[in-house]
Amino acid sequence: MLKYDAVVVGGGSAGIAAAASAAKEGARTLLVEAGPNLGGELLTGMTIDGAINARGQWIVGGILTELIEELKRMDGFVGAFNDWRLIRYLCYDPVVMQFAVVNVLNKYGVDFLLHTVAEQAVVEDGAVKELIIHNKSGKSKVEADCFIDCSGDGDLCAMCGALYEVGSPNGDLQPVSMMFRMSGVEAEPLLRFVKEHPEHVALGESDEIRGGRTDEEIAEELYKQGQPTVFFKGDGPLLRKAIERGEMFPTALIMIQPTSNQRKEVCINCTRVAHVSGLDTKALSGTMVELLAQVRQSVKFLKNNVPGFENAQLSAVGQRIGIRETRRIIGEYVLTGEDARSGRKFSDGVAKGCHHIDIHQEGTKQIRIPIANGGSYDIPFRCLIPKGLKNVLVAGRCFSADREALGSARVIGGCLAMGQAAGTAASMLAASNLEDVRQLDVSLLRKTLKSQGAIVDGTY
Ligand SMILES: Cc1cc2nc3c(=O)[nH]c(=O)nc-3n(C[C@H](O)[C@H](O)[C@H](O)COP(=O)(O)OP(=O)(O)OC[C@H]3O[C@@H](n4cnc5c(N)ncnc54)[C@H](O)[C@@H]3O)c2cc1C
Repeated sequence: MLKYDAVVVGGGSAGIAAAASAAKEGARTLLVEAGPNLGGELLTGMTIDGAINARGQWIVGGILTELIEELKRMDGFVGAFNDWRLIRYLCYDPVVMQFAVVNVLNKYGVDFLLHTVAEQAVVEDGAVKELIIHNKSGKSKVEADCFIDCSGDGDLCAMCGALYEVGSPNGDLQPVSMMFRMSGVEAEPLLRFVKEHPEHVALGESDEIRGGRTDEEIAEELYKQGQPTVFFKGDGPLLRKAIERGEMFPTALIMIQPTSNQRKEVCINCTRVAHVSGLDTKALSGTMVELLAQVRQSVKFLKNNVPGFENAQLSAVGQRIGIRETRRIIGEYVLTGEDARSGRKFSDGVAKGCHHIDIHQEGTKQIRIPIANGGSYDIPFRCLIPKGLKNVLVAGRCFSADREALGSARVIGGCLAMGQAAGTAASMLAASNLEDVRQLDVSLLRKTLKSQGAIVDGTY
């Protein structure tokens, strides 16, 4: 029997922020991760979206700021850039990020167990009494005052009997993808190509980013930014013709973003297999062959068709198949697409989101709807409280939202911010005599979050 104040299930973006925040506020904290590593998609090198709104205003701080400081200290922060399409994002070296994540957790004394699955929960009267975890050493029981579900898939809440939804009303889900990286990419010829052929790329899809500019003027801005931040679009001539010729598989975008100027390395997001559930392990595993074939095909396409890639090499493939959506736990409030789109603020807001509603679909289809006025919306604390459970919180991609709101808030910035709020709330529950997270003083939670450098007020 292990005893902690707070137990976090899942060591992705939400889980690392939750565990670090809980421990920072004095809670004895255990982080349980099924995989071999901590950081989740942060280890692929995908950009951190949802941290800076389209106006250029930071809406996430706290643990994100601490990670950035660690990255900078180890020369692993590439910078904050404008994608000249819809958003601004943060680029970093994922190899260095692996160190940054462990350093931040270690700094606050978080205990973590890798290769450990949260398997079963003993629930009495809406409260989790014990969590049963399983690893090579066998099974153990863990007791805690508060449990936080950051499993991405809502595993903990589901095993506690919480209500949830999956995907669209007809059960469709966003495609799964395999991220990869290429090194030896020359930025200047790539950006010159884009400047000369803006028709190939996605540009100025929100008024705030476009700012009245023509596509040619935006391509010039992209060139001046000097970084390989390029989105070839599926309905642009370059990619569309390659798809028609069978040289590329149907995809909405080839997203290219820098991970290391030293290695001239970029992260690439373009592979996709639709209609597969991350909750169906057999089906998910079955996509690996096709996803890896798509990686090979994309590398060949880029090397043969895109200036700057001629001498580039495949340098890394994701450590796992990327899953965009599975369970959405039903909480005390369900954040809606309209809340997100309109930039709605809430008096119990404990985190923020600003990413466009971003729902990848089959083939070349993708829904992309910007947030009003390039602003941000609040994520209420109630969205982190699963209905019917007293000492459980949920954060990250399985939080309480409808499908559209999840399409926005699921990005890393939002997951880190929700994790920070949940971890801080868990530490408050542990330090009190209260038994239900609903009894916590939300104004005190917001105050504590601000003292941690989190951003909960004062943004568009
Ligand atoms: C292909 C792809 C591209 C994306 N591109 C971007 C992008 O460019 N920018 C951006 O900001 N976001 C992007 N996203 C979204 C973003 O990466 C994720 O939504 C976010 O990382 C989710 O974080 P999380 O912590 O909620 O979940 P996860 O990162 O999935 O972490 C959950 C963790 O829980 C562990 N776990 C699960 N079940 C259990 C269990 N029962 N016991 C123990 N551990 C368990 C898992 O192993 C995992 O490590 C992308 C997502 C995908 C898939």
